[in-house]
Amino acid sequence: MTMLLPQFELHKPTSLKEALDLARGFGDDFDYLSGGTDLLPNYKCGLNASANVISLAHIAELKAISPTEIGAGVCLRDLERSKEVPASVAYTASQIASPLIRESATLGGNLMLDTRCHFFNQSYFWRRTLGYCLKADGDVCHVIPKIMKDGKSVTNSFTCVATHSSDLAPLLVALGASCTLAGPAGTRTLKLSEFYKGDGIARFDLQRGEIFTKVSLPNTSGIRSGYKKLAPRRSIDFPVLGVAAALGLGKDGRVESLRIGLGACETIPVLYDFSGKDKQAERGNAIFTEPTKGMPEVIGKKLDDALIQTIADHVTRTAQPKLNVPMEPAYRKKMAGVFARRLLTELRS
Ligand SMILES: Cc1cc2nc3c(=O)[nH]c(=O)nc-3n(C[C@H](O)[C@H](O)[C@H](O)COP(=O)(O)OP(=O)(O)OC[C@H]3O[C@@H](n4cnc5c(N)ncnc54)[C@H](O)[C@@H]3O)c2cc1C
Ligand code: SF4
Repeated sequence: MTMLLPQFELHKPTSLKEALDLARGFGDDFDYLSGGTDLLPNYKCGLNASANVISLAHIAELKAISPTEIGAGVCLRDLERSKEVPASVAYTASQIASPLIRESATLGGNLMLDTRCHFFNQSYFWRRTLGYCLKADGDVCHVIPKIMKDGKSVTNSFTCVATHSSDLAPLLVALGASCTLAGPAGTRTLKLSEFYKGDGIARFDLQRGEIFTKVSLPNTSGIRSGYKKLAPRRSIDFPVLGVAAALGLGKDGRVESLRIGLGACETIPVLYDFSGKDKQAERGNAIFTEPTKGMPEVIGKKLDDALIQTIADHVTRTAQPKLNVPMEPAYRKKMAGVFARRLLTELRS
């Protein structure tokens, strides 16, 4: 079956202001486009396409790169080759998709990529046989049709639990990154962990027309960071689990700070801030356990094997992968702890 792009009008502004002005004129009927490697495949599947597409590819303001600031328009191939950004960021960028896709794909597009689900990333005809779903054209979720509480069915969830499958998001959340958004009302900056909303449809704390302009990193000198990805194949495939960690370790081997980011399990990259400074991003449904509940005390303690295992067990216990991307949730849940243990053991040495 051939899947064709629907018709749309392409606009190519060369400044942020021009892009924002264009967006204002289109009301709700437009999408921003960076590399197009996520948006255009979705358009081909007939998923929520708009009549106007505003390309951000020609806006120089979005392409700056430095040790503390990365423009949303920086392509992943440049990020992967950069000597300026933390090595863990360059490495994680290199694990995404394929070299060809990384030439077009951007940081902004990666952090804002649409949530994924077996019942959503399908052709229009495939979805029609099931009567569509909440996220496009329908009114039911096939993954969690009912929420159960105390053994009783409470209600149809009306929350999409599609998975946010970005490789960079859990790492940047663990590193304590912030993001800047430019909109008709001006510019605002917020923690990346608070940018994500626990709803696979609304997805972000983003007002209509706002453009994601850059990611800012705090000073990461002295912080050891890394990322581990689980995917069916080592190339091309989206993660079905991603575990990132940013660890501050004193000379005596005691933990000064620890943040773990968990990706491809939920609608948001989940943040475990063991230092307790940052608020956890809003999770989709209050019925699920909070990752901070029962979080072990680690600050000031020696990062020995026993402590690493305690941390890994906490991640396994609280990870909540859904049955909407490849590989069984039970396996991904177990692997979340395994990856956390391996990553912390590597970072310690
Ligand atoms: C075969 C294949 C394999 C892939 N494998 C992986 C993988 O392993 N890991 C992974 O993380 N991803 C993967 N992806 C997903 C995707 O290609 C990348 O995440 C990529 O970084 C998306 O960037 P883009 O610039 O192409 O985004 P686009 O497709 O241009 O945009 C994605 C979304 O973000 C919005 N957007 C983009 N930029 C902005 C901005 N500056 N401001 C406001 N909104 C914006 C768009 O409107 C759109 O909704 C894969 C994709 C394909 C096709
Ligand atoms: S999780 Fe979201 S995308 Fe998947 S079936 Fe439910 S509503 Fe649709």
